[in-house]
Amino acid sequence: MRTIQNYINGTNKPPQNGQYLDNFNPATGAVYGLIPDSGAEDVDAAVEAASAAFPAWAGLPLEQRHDILRAISDGILANLDQLAEAESMDSGKTITAARTVDIPRAALNFKFFATALLHFASESHSMPGALSYTLRQPLGVVGGISPWNLPLYLFTWKVAPALAAGNCVVGKPSEVTPYTAYLLGDICTKAGLPPGVFNIVHGLGPRAGEAIVRHPKVKAISFTGSTRAGAEIARIAAPMFKKLSLELGGKNPNLIFADCDYETMLKTTIGSSFNNQGQICLCGSRIYVERSLYAKFKKDFVEQVRAMRVGNPADPASRLGAVVSKGHYEKVLSYIELAKQEGGTILCGGHPVPQTGDLAGGWYIAPTVIEGLPLECRTNQEEIFGPVVTIQPFDSDEEALALANGAPYGLSTTLWTNDLKRTQHFASALQAGIVWVNCWLLRDLRTPFGGVKQSGVGREGGWEAMRFFTEVKNVTIAQ
Ligand code: NAD
Repeated sequence: MRTIQNYINGTNKPPQNGQYLDNFNPATGAVYGLIPDSGAEDVDAAVEAASAAFPAWAGLPLEQRHDILRAISDGILANLDQLAEAESMDSGKTITAARTVDIPRAALNFKFFATALLHFASESHSMPGALSYTLRQPLGVVGGISPWNLPLYLFTWKVAPALAAGNCVVGKPSEVTPYTAYLLGDICTKAGLPPGVFNIVHGLGPRAGEAIVRHPKVKAISFTGSTRAGAEIARIAAPMFKKLSLELGGKNPNLIFADCDYETMLKTTIGSSFNNQGQICLCGSRIYVERSLYAKFKKDFVEQVRAMRVGNPADPASRLGAVVSKGHYEKVLSYIELAKQEGGTILCGGHPVPQTGDLAGGWYIAPTVIEGLPLECRTNQEEIFGPVVTIQPFDSDEEALALANGAPYGLSTTLWTNDLKRTQHFASALQAGIVWVNCWLLRDLRTPFGGVKQSGVGREGGWEAMRFFTEVKNVTIAQ
């Protein structure tokens, strides 16, 4: 059994109430560790440590802050194998995905914002008789709360810019996947991060998470997770006038036109549907195909999806590992049942994938393609967040746009076409924070990231993140 601890003021500390939660390995379904079930008293201790560390951290010469964040990035890469194994064991994702996507990206997040802080600047405005300039100052103590699907990747996506901008952080990773965040604490200490600058409190959302949101000394909350929890957080934080960045759920459409580069589209659509078992907020779960291409796409897509291997996350031959938890496994299967009741036809998958031996208790689901469902049904309106997609033909640009915009979410859309006029029209008319054209998940970390409608408010990434984690003050000096 591995027991992890909170990371407060630079040291590992047990929860003050002495209580722990079980940590499950999705590949086997077995408990393999314990997680602090922290309460408000642990959050108080973390916030006190962060408050005490703030003046020195905010006042550190930029080059020194840069060097420490770069050292954290290097430390993550130096521990790539251990972190990748930990991420896979906590989340059920394949070790290959953790090694090639999650952990390298976590290192890159620190590297990227370490350099950003050296170049971040503010505006000045001169007029006859006066000069105004804008100060962008760190906020103080800020909170970062992250989900289980890309655990270290998304946790560091918040923590790195917050620290780069000169804040101290109290972070809470998902209670479902806490292990790599725990390992990160040690990496930060070794990199020379002063005690208290970054603190990690583990535990449940409504308890430890809510205590961070409610704490009066926490000036901003960067949250990534479900729309439901985002609404809870907004209810608490809005009347306290905290800065809020809410990166929430998605039900992303893929629009595939007959003039697309077919092979690239097909390969990418397999990934955008089922990478990480479909548990990426940016996965395209509603696939709309121009009618003239529909029959060919359906045949080729289903054939390739059927061939995807589901199994042991540690086996490099596995394309899909396990889904993250028993609760999530049951939720995804219940949506497949719902799709049948709503009149959908299961073209492939639609069932668990039983394993043997140690893995017999794990949570594996076959990649599932469903046809014949209208836009308005729950299957096409609600986020399933698993290896399940629906496919449907369309007859015109107008219909494709209406289908794409016809869900309550607005995170990302992928458009497959070589028609420039159409691309520009759709880019403008789509209700989404991100539009990918002839690609998917191609990320330039300088670009704004976030959603509209029920996918959240605020943008992260690049200068947007540095702006979010700083307060603006205008100074006007008469000449
Ligand atoms: P979740 O909302 O259940 O939990 C996310 C985090 O919030 C966890 O750390 C949890 O402990 C905490 N939390 C839960 N309730 C809280 C509360 N009342 N107060 C404070 N903290 C609370 O989400 P999840 O199931 O971990 O993650 C899946 C969801 O995340 C999906 O909806 C997915 O689309 C979304 N997501 C969005 C993005 C994005 O960038 N928009 C990225 C990844 C995942």
